[in-house]
Amino acid sequence: MKYFSLNNKAPKVSFEEAVVLGLAPDKGLYFPESITPLPHSFFQNIENLSHEEIAYEAIKQFVGDEIPETELKQIITETLCFDFPCVPVEENVFSLELFHGPTMAFKDVGARFMSRCLGYFNRHDDKKKVTVLVATSGDTGGAVASGFLGVKGVEVVILYPSGKVSEIQERQLTTLGQNIKALEVDGVFDDCQDMVKKAFLDESLKPYHLTSANSINIARWLPQMFYIFFAYQQLKKHNKPIILSCPSGNFGNICAGIMAKRLGLPIAHFVASTNANDTVPRFLQQGLYEPKPSVATISNAMDVGNPSNFIRIQELYHHDLKEFENDFTSYSFTDSETKAALKDLYHRTGYIAEPHGTIGYLGLKKEMPKHPGSIGVFLETAHPIKFLDVVEPLLDLTLTIPSQIESVLGKEKVSVKIKTYQELKDFLK
Ligand SMILES: *Cc1c(COP(=O)(O)O)cnc(C)c1O
Repeated sequence: MKYFSLNNKAPKVSFEEAVVLGLAPDKGLYFPESITPLPHSFFQNIENLSHEEIAYEAIKQFVGDEIPETELKQIITETLCFDFPCVPVEENVFSLELFHGPTMAFKDVGARFMSRCLGYFNRHDDKKKVTVLVATSGDTGGAVASGFLGVKGVEVVILYPSGKVSEIQERQLTTLGQNIKALEVDGVFDDCQDMVKKAFLDESLKPYHLTSANSINIARWLPQMFYIFFAYQQLKKHNKPIILSCPSGNFGNICAGIMAKRLGLPIAHFVASTNANDTVPRFLQQGLYEPKPSVATISNAMDVGNPSNFIRIQELYHHDLKEFENDFTSYSFTDSETKAALKDLYHRTGYIAEPHGTIGYLGLKKEMPKHPGSIGVFLETAHPIKFLDVVEPLLDLTLTIPSQIESVLGKEKVSVKIKTYQELKDFLK
């Protein structure tokens, strides 16, 4: 499979090159040259397939012959080492829980898949080491640290804003050691992000083979299709049209959902639910794509003013606004709406959500009346414990700390403090 840059000014590359580069040299996102739907029989028979079998069928055309079948299947098995239950929360509404992995956020899936692909490409020591450089506002750092720990030939450098991530999140990215290094930046998330962007453009850092591990990287984005297939596998028996709502920040999950539909997965309608960072809902209302600087909310993993995957979504809808609007709705919700819904959901049903999943739930509830006879699923993208400072006071309860989190709390934090871009450069060299 070849990948082209959505800026159309860079050469086509292989799967391996696209994964190693992250972003194309013309700063465009990579996109597969062709998408071939899976046979009808695959969907008819999906209940009888294992997660590994489903994931292999979904991803194989995108990897092509660059990773042999046995190794690709092994990568998939190691990626999917936890459950993806679709839990009923009220009549016709389900929560697809994506937080049962090692760092308790959906980003574990993409991070584990991508790290193992890079590990495969580095299996011979003659290849140059790759350095994964990533800025995090919280969840990405932990998932990348855990997913890449001990992967041969890959160094990981995580930049996070000092004092701006939760204690659990900080422990998850500063306590692992080995090939994982944490840089504590005196600044905010945008400062971390700016330094990372600058480093990717810096010619003097070329020898260090920097790559990214956020959803611009196809090896992090494409495996996010897997769990949309798993949701369908669990909901198919209801024999009703399915509405999928994704709490959206960089729009990687929803974009993976649309990709799954291109492979034939029967999703009737998509809802992109956002917090106050409403660039896409505004676009759908006003027809104008006008990114704004991000604003801080209680669903901080979605505080994105200019979602990177939106361009891929437009490509998937052939830049046709009619086709797009037929299939796709986007709503924005405030923090107070989110808090009220989180509380209401708990008091009515006993289900404990966290702010991101709650926004997914709100978008779903707003859209469902337009599709009578359908069932709806929202992504619960993280475990409530990761946002305990919001959830506990709101619901007036104490959450039990899961073992995955307990194990990092006792470990010692190791980080290097930096303030300037030059300090990052010195560190990399
Ligand atoms: C990253 C993240 C999101 C946003 O997902 P996108 O695919 O970037 O839209 C939502 N919720 C949580 C908990 C996250 O960590």
